[in-house]
Amino acid sequence: MKKLYHINSYKTIKVILLTVLLLSFHDIRAQNEENKDGDKLYFTMEKPYQTVNVGQVKGKKVKNVILMIGDGMGLNQISMAWVANHGKLNLDNFKQTGLSRTYAANKLITDSGAAGTAMATGQKTNYHAIGVDINGNPLPSLTDLAHEKGLSTAIVVTCGLTDATPATFCANNTDRDLEEEIAADFLDCNVDFLFGGGRNKFTQRKDGRNLMEEMQQRGYKSVKTWDETRTISSGKVFAVVEDGQLAKASERGDIWQQASMQAIDLISKNNKGFFAMLEGSRIDDYGHWHNIPDLMGEIFDFDKTIGKVIQWAEKDGQTLVIVLADHETGGLTFLDGDIQKGQVEGHYSTGGHSGIIIPVFAYGPQSEQFVGVYENTEVFSKIADILKLN
Ligand code: MG
Ligand code: ZN
Repeated sequence: MKKLYHINSYKTIKVILLTVLLLSFHDIRAQNEENKDGDKLYFTMEKPYQTVNVGQVKGKKVKNVILMIGDGMGLNQISMAWVANHGKLNLDNFKQTGLSRTYAANKLITDSGAAGTAMATGQKTNYHAIGVDINGNPLPSLTDLAHEKGLSTAIVVTCGLTDATPATFCANNTDRDLEEEIAADFLDCNVDFLFGGGRNKFTQRKDGRNLMEEMQQRGYKSVKTWDETRTISSGKVFAVVEDGQLAKASERGDIWQQASMQAIDLISKNNKGFFAMLEGSRIDDYGHWHNIPDLMGEIFDFDKTIGKVIQWAEKDGQTLVIVLADHETGGLTFLDGDIQKGQVEGHYSTGGHSGIIIPVFAYGPQSEQFVGVYENTEVFSKIADILKLN
């Protein structure tokens, strides 16, 4: 019976998803105050970027795990990006795929707090909670457990570090909006390489503390720009390169791609292995704001990084790469387009998140463990088992 649920190809998932969407589509348009310009529902990519082709890894041993989270990146988003890039994505290299259910403990349609907590700690929790169970008790995350076992760790994001997804790996709070409290939790987080935005939460605080200086006192190289970050070749890194989020993909260049590869370069010096969480955080924003051109830009930046990561992993041979989302954003429907012209047209059905099951792509040794249909909490348990963190 179990075999029936196994999904082995990207094409099969697309067919299933289309069917699910046709059955579940609701034309409910939520108010969207942030996008005053109106929806941007069309996009054309004149010149596609080059994608890589990697071979499959033969060995079974996993030393390192790289978890790549595309916040709000469902199969419509991925399918549209594939068409816009003229029928090619680096994600096409992944042979093992699965589906993960995202609902929170107390709410069917989740947020990045509850969904991130499920993947980071293995427990479903309440909407807007960060690294705590339904009673508010703190839970150890994959980065905590990896650190305890002597592995190196990294978190590299395009949002603020105190934003929900990175926070679920480093902080414990019942409310994701208490970002100054969440920022203070980073002092005891023990992650070796931290890169993102959100500097204000560390330096412009009601309690007057300067957490960038406190991180420096704890042995981090505490830096405020990418130019400073890129020159660091050893030791622990705390890089908060913007006051808020990083600029959108079309304006920030490839700094997130570079920071991701620098993190891998530094933490892979540990012979015991590493765990890295790389987040394409702003894919979610442009779903909320119904902006397909900038949504495509964020997914392209994410996919270009995927290309670099799997090339690195292929060479390494003992690295498992998992690409997934925490939930889908916007209830996006892929309506039309042209592969040769790189044109896409979509339609949004909500200003919030949707409840659709999300895709998981796995590459490298033990990637077959991510095939099937499962709860988002199993992302944690599978990684913890594979890295022997329990
Ligand atoms: Mg996020
Ligand atoms: Zn969101």
